[in-house]
Amino acid sequence: MSFARVAIIGLGLIGGSIGLAVRDELSGVTTSGFDADPAVRERARERKLADEIHDDAAEAVTGADLVILCVPVGAMGAAAKAILPGLSPDAVISDVGSSKRSILQTLQAALPEHTIIPAHPVAGTEHSGPDAGFSTLFHQRWCIVTPPEGAPEDKIAALVDFWEGLGAMVETMDPEHHDKVLAVTSHIPHLIAYTIVGTASDLETVTRSEVIKYSAGGFRDFTRIAASDPTMWRDVFLNNKDAVLEMLDSFLTDLALMREAIRAGDGEMMHDTFSRTRAIRRSIVALGQDDPRPDFGREHE
Ligand code: NAP
Repeated sequence: MSFARVAIIGLGLIGGSIGLAVRDELSGVTTSGFDADPAVRERARERKLADEIHDDAAEAVTGADLVILCVPVGAMGAAAKAILPGLSPDAVISDVGSSKRSILQTLQAALPEHTIIPAHPVAGTEHSGPDAGFSTLFHQRWCIVTPPEGAPEDKIAALVDFWEGLGAMVETMDPEHHDKVLAVTSHIPHLIAYTIVGTASDLETVTRSEVIKYSAGGFRDFTRIAASDPTMWRDVFLNNKDAVLEMLDSFLTDLALMREAIRAGDGEMMHDTFSRTRAIRRSIVALGQDDPRPDFGREHE
């Protein structure tokens, strides 16, 4: 099977990008969209983020064979309830949320009669809202599909095809494993960035203007991550608590070891660790997951 009509609920960065990508990459597939915010719907109409933008969530999903919830993780339950009256019994319900176990539970509770197949495109930027989306966002990026046990194989295959059609590389895994992997690759890095940027701005011995002036020393690369949407990230930490706490404990152990190495002047330990991490950066670049140019390709005069 393949999908003919896709409804997108939530027309910000990810929802808008899906709409634009379907238009550019999947000819013959139509889209309808809804966002809870009337100003976002207005902007979505202007940018043509979907073929039709509806003022009602249930109307937007009418006739859709795939519905993708692209709202903050904490809004998934409300969005699912709002679409229920318009849903076709055969529709596949998916989402793009950054944590998976809690979303699966929320959607299964709200829509017990429907096929739920969650997914997470590991692609994004620090921008949000209806102006942030672009059609190539998913090109060469991973999308992790997390089907629950017993989900129909043909519907899983159709969702995988859909994401591949948008240019993504797809992997399937169970929701618990997803949450652990993303805790270490995304959630903890965001927590560290939010914390270090907060710490720097609270320092009394270094003025705020110095922090900004000398940010090219490394700080500014944290500020990109720390500029990410506060609602989205609050919801990620509220919803992936167990995996984040587990990975945070490992991180704090390693940080304490590093503090000891610095205190003891253990240059060998530091050099070994920094060499290992440099190799990880090189493999990310080799896999096409980041810009190989120095300083992320920023222009230097
Ligand atoms: P976004 O740009 O803020 O877009 C979300 C949109 O959903 C907003 O316009 C929001 O309106 C709307 N909304 C909130 N509650 C709603 C509801 N009940 N019904 C309909 N619309 C509703 O956020 P985003 O970055 O696209 O993130 C959306 C989802 O993608 C999140 O679950 C996030 O975890 C996931 N994700 C994000 C990234 C990333 O890098 N940003 C990457 C991968 C996955 P208001 O602003 O008025 O609330």
